[in-house]
This record gives sequence, structure tokens and C-alpha cells, in this order.
Amino acid sequence: MENSDYDLIVVGAGPAGLFTAREAAGMGCKVLVLEEHGEVGKPERCAGLFSLSGLRMLGMPLSPSYVQNVVRGAVFSSPSGREFVLDTKKPVAVVTSREMFDKSLARQAALKGAEIVTGEKVVGIVPSERSPSVRTSNSSASAKMVVDAEGRSGFLARQVWKGWRPRGWLPIIQAVVENHRMDREFVYLYFKDYLKDFFAYLVPIDDELGKLGVAARKDTRKLFFRFLQEEFGHVRILSTTSASIYTGPPLELRQTGRVLAVGDVAGQAKATTGGGVVYGGLCALETGRYVANFLLNGAGAREYRSRMRRIYAQLKSIHRLRVLISRIQPKFYDTIFKAAGDIGLDAWLSSEGDMDRHADTASAMLSSGMALKLLMRSILQAVKDALGIP
Ligand SMILES: Cc1cc2nc3c(=O)[nH]c(=O)nc-3n(C[C@H](O)[C@H](O)[C@H](O)COP(=O)(O)OP(=O)(O)OC[C@H]3O[C@@H](n4cnc5c(N)ncnc54)[C@H](O)[C@@H]3O)c2cc1C
Repeated sequence: MENSDYDLIVVGAGPAGLFTAREAAGMGCKVLVLEEHGEVGKPERCAGLFSLSGLRMLGMPLSPSYVQNVVRGAVFSSPSGREFVLDTKKPVAVVTSREMFDKSLARQAALKGAEIVTGEKVVGIVPSERSPSVRTSNSSASAKMVVDAEGRSGFLARQVWKGWRPRGWLPIIQAVVENHRMDREFVYLYFKDYLKDFFAYLVPIDDELGKLGVAARKDTRKLFFRFLQEEFGHVRILSTTSASIYTGPPLELRQTGRVLAVGDVAGQAKATTGGGVVYGGLCALETGRYVANFLLNGAGAREYRSRMRRIYAQLKSIHRLRVLISRIQPKFYDTIFKAAGDIGLDAWLSSEGDMDRHADTASAMLSSGMALKLLMRSILQAVKDALGIP
């Protein structure tokens, strides 16, 4: 690794790092990816739910090597158990093994020429306008550019971007469970009065197995078991993992001494769900493209900034939507779900909604009058509930 002549060094072989590497290598750059773990994709800490449209945008072909299940809708459950079912009647998303997804992406990046070295933890990044470098415990390497794709850790980002201190991380516990007894073609979201920061979910892998998650700022473990007992007392837990999801706004870290950041470390995730593979991946593709254009043709900075601004505008709107949703008292979910069913919001969302572009969906609801209808119907329903009228 020493005295290397790489165009680009990417730190972290998660999806953000690998999409960056695949793109830059595909455009002719000499790319090195350094991953601290001994194997790409491990340990697996993800529900692996991705929209089909998102995967298409990422240029990720569907493969039985990582697709576990195909889903066509979602069931939202209110604190009292009232359901709002969104059934698109066609495949909209896939449930994947994140380990196999990352491995498949690593193969694609390697086929384009990227060199991926595992078991190599980067302990320092030194920005420089000529030749930024990275340090591992026993070696160092320099390149023309470095991309930090370290994910949640932020250890390196703190060295490069002084004051890097995102506040949107939410602890989460996810378990693989057996015997869930739910329809595998749907994912399930549970809103509970004791889960004030987020929702709980079940993402089926097949008829038997599923990924069950609970996120909460405090007492995550206690709340996880409370939810489990309440809704899935019959399941057997096969494994559990503790991690965090990012639910804050994008961080817009500027290029510093030829070092850029992509993925979770840059807050490139959907604040409403913590899902970061599609948006982090889109930012990574832009970043890989920019690095290659800049290094090979000396151009592309302005176009990169403008494309990233567009993605950030989406992420910021999604974050604003999350702030709005977090202000809704859990008890009103009953009212809203009933009203949503009454006005046919399920059918409308099935044709107009988008699993990733939540903010666009919300603004389409506003402009089509659907949001106003929902508001009026919810108020009517709240009055009926208060008076005990069925
Ligand atoms: C329980 C859970 C469920 C989730 N479910 C979904 C979902 O269904 N859909 C979705 O889109 N998103 C989901 N997410 C979020 C998603 O996992 C992240 O947004 C995504 O993994 C971010 O990708 P990344 O490449 O930025 O970071 P990561 O995937 O975290 O990858 C970072 C990589 O960098 C490596 N690394 C870190 N530091 C160093 C270092 N110093 N040197 C070398 N290597 C280093 C790490 O080992 C890791 O491999 C979920 C997250 C959790 C925790």
C-alpha cells in the first residue's frame, strides 16, 4: 500500500463507499477501498428493504444472490391497532440480505477495477490540496483524492471536519425472528404511544422469518421487549443486533483538502425511516462521477455541486416532514388512519406515492387537495371520536 499512486482512496466498503468506487473505477480511475472488517457486508446491521425504483436509479441489477423477498405494500398500525393498508398490487420493494447486497456490489466494483482490501482499519486521514493521505495502524497511502465512507463511526470525519457532530442518530435494536405469522408481501409499521421517537417494524424475509426492529432514544432494549411481547409474543428470536439509524438533516460537508464524505457519515439518509442505502448510494454515484471527471478532465465541480444540491433539497424536505410527523401525538394516529382510509388515500398513494421521495409525495398530496381532504376528515373523525359517534 505504501507509496501508492492511486487516484482515489475510499475508506469503508459499505454501500456508499462501494458505489463511489464502482463509479470512479468504471470511469477510469485507479481506486483503492479500505475496509476495517475482515469481510465485506459483515457484521450485518440493516433490514435491507430497498425500493425497486431506488435500485434502478443506482444501477443495481436484481439478483437472487441477495434478494430474499419481494413486497407490494405496507400496513401501518395505530396505537390502538387500527390499520391503514397500502397495497400497490405490484412489486414495489425488495427485502435483501445486506451482507450479500454489499458483496455483490463489491464484486461489481472489483470488476470495474477497484482494489478492495479488507481487515485494514484507517486511523487517520490527512487532507491536502495536492495529495491527501490515509494512515492505517501499520501503513500509509496517498492518492489524488480521498472519500470518507466510514458510516456511523465519524471517527475520521471528526479529524477532517472540525465540529462534525450530527445529532440525528437514534439507537435501534433489530432481531431476526422466526414464526412471524404475517403476510410476507407486506412490511409492517407499528406506531405506539411508548415509541415516541420512531416506529417499530417487521420486514418479512419469507413466510417464517422476518426482521423486527425498534428504535428509541432511551430505554431501547426495554421498549424492544415490550413491543415484542405485545405484538409478537409467539416468535422465536434467532439473533439480535444493536446499532443506530440516522434521522437528522443532511450534513453538507464541504470538500476539504481533496477529501469528500458520502453516506451515513454525511447524513445522506431518509430522516423519516433512517434508510440510507438509496440516497447515500445516489450521492456516492455523483461523488464517484465527480472525482473521475475532476481528475481525468479537470472539470465537473459546478455540475457536481448543483446535482448534490438537488439531492440535498430532497433530503432536507424529508427531514422537515419527519419533524412534522414527530409532532403528531400518537393518539391521533387512530383518527388519521381512519380518515385516510375513508378518503381513499391508500388508492391515491398506490398510484402517486413513492417509497423514497416522501417529500415529493407530501407536496403532491398538498397540490392535489388530498392533504386538505385528510385534514378535514381527520378533524371530523376527531369530533366523532370525542362524542363517541361510530
Ligand atoms: C437496524 C438497521 C436497519 C436498517 N434498515 C435499512 C433499510 O431497510 N433500508 C435502508 O436503505 N437503510 C437501512 N438502514 C440504514 C443503512 O444501513 C445505512 O444507511 C447504510 O448502511 C449506510 O451506508 P454507508 O456505506 O454510509 O455506511 P456503512 O454501511 O456503515 O458502511 C461503512 C463501512 O465503513 C467501514 N469502516 C468504518 N470505519 C472504518 C475505518 N476507520 N477504516 C476502514 N473501514 C471503516 C465499516 O466497517 C463499514 O463497512 C438500516 C440501519 C440499521 C442500523
